[in-house]
Amino acid sequence: MEVSTTEISTTEISTEKSTEKSTIEEKTLRLASLFLVLLSVAVCVMLPYLPSLYTREVEEREKRLAEEEFAQSQVAMQDLEIKEQDDAAGMKGQLRIRLPEGVDGSSIEVNSDYVTQTVRVEIPGTDMAYFDSYPVTGDSNYIDTLSYTRQGGEGVVEVVTNQVYELRTEYDSQYYYFNFLTPQEVYDKVVVIDAGHGGRAPGATKQGVNEKDIDLAIVLQLQKIFEESDENIGVYYTRTDDSNPTFDQRVQLANKSNADLFISVHNNSTGSGRMSGTKGTQVMYDETSGESKAFAQICLEEVTSEIGSVDKGLVEGDEIYIIRTSEVPVALIEVGFMTNREELALLNSEEYQRQTAQGIYNAVLRAFEEGY
Ligand SMILES: [Zn+2]
Repeated sequence: MEVSTTEISTTEISTEKSTEKSTIEEKTLRLASLFLVLLSVAVCVMLPYLPSLYTREVEEREKRLAEEEFAQSQVAMQDLEIKEQDDAAGMKGQLRIRLPEGVDGSSIEVNSDYVTQTVRVEIPGTDMAYFDSYPVTGDSNYIDTLSYTRQGGEGVVEVVTNQVYELRTEYDSQYYYFNFLTPQEVYDKVVVIDAGHGGRAPGATKQGVNEKDIDLAIVLQLQKIFEESDENIGVYYTRTDDSNPTFDQRVQLANKSNADLFISVHNNSTGSGRMSGTKGTQVMYDETSGESKAFAQICLEEVTSEIGSVDKGLVEGDEIYIIRTSEVPVALIEVGFMTNREELALLNSEEYQRQTAQGIYNAVLRAFEEGY
């Protein structure tokens, strides 16, 4: 980088000389090329020390990949009408589907995906005409879209809700009931945990190790800790496998669940991507929110004290989409540097992943003690 700039500048200067331009132009050109050389030297020297975090370019590419993946998973559906029956009928936050003749409630398959706020209901013995005779009834205030398709000989009703809800289902001989409860109606506190990258977006790849796998391994350790916890904390995960939710789905899971805290788990590498001595933990926060900054500081303290890593401080993160658009206190933890041999080995070990998860868990409890 440095060398090539110098060469170009020298060639330019000699060309100028041969055509005998004025000395003022020459001086300006020399100053400009000197400036360029100095700038490129500065950039090259600084590069290994600048954490790469996300560059906008990487973010854009990953955004496209995830959106493509999501679009490919979508199936064409036909809209269904909801026959409005709200408070007066005692159906606030409820939908009812009439069971077809001879179909028992136990044969209905329901799948709820809170990341996309989508409930999929497989109901045998239905077609579009069925719903003209027996429309879905209930409270449309909770619903974004209601649609229907037939897949593999099976009728499928798809409900997309306008927020993240906890779904409770029940049935009798006539109806199948869907009750949508807000997370706050079910839990004392709500946390959203995001494992960075996933699927075709590996994040950093160093010495055969993908960042997405380390991020997920830490989150899965954290899931174990939450599951064993006595606290009544509702935890929503953007992913618990090698999927790659879109950035919007990740952040909307926090916004649409009115989460108390939103934590994204990543790992760092130096700007140059080369292995180096740089190591330690950094936490990114939303510089427009004091709550986010204070929470990021809690994460930094709790994680570094649990894993004994170098405290590399807080970093402004408003350039990152999920930080910028989070409506809840957000912290993006860069646990360690994959470009540091020693730290990469640690990050790749189950014990270090477990300790990191413990640090994050401690940060969550401390944040709640401090009034989040
Ligand atoms: Zn990352």
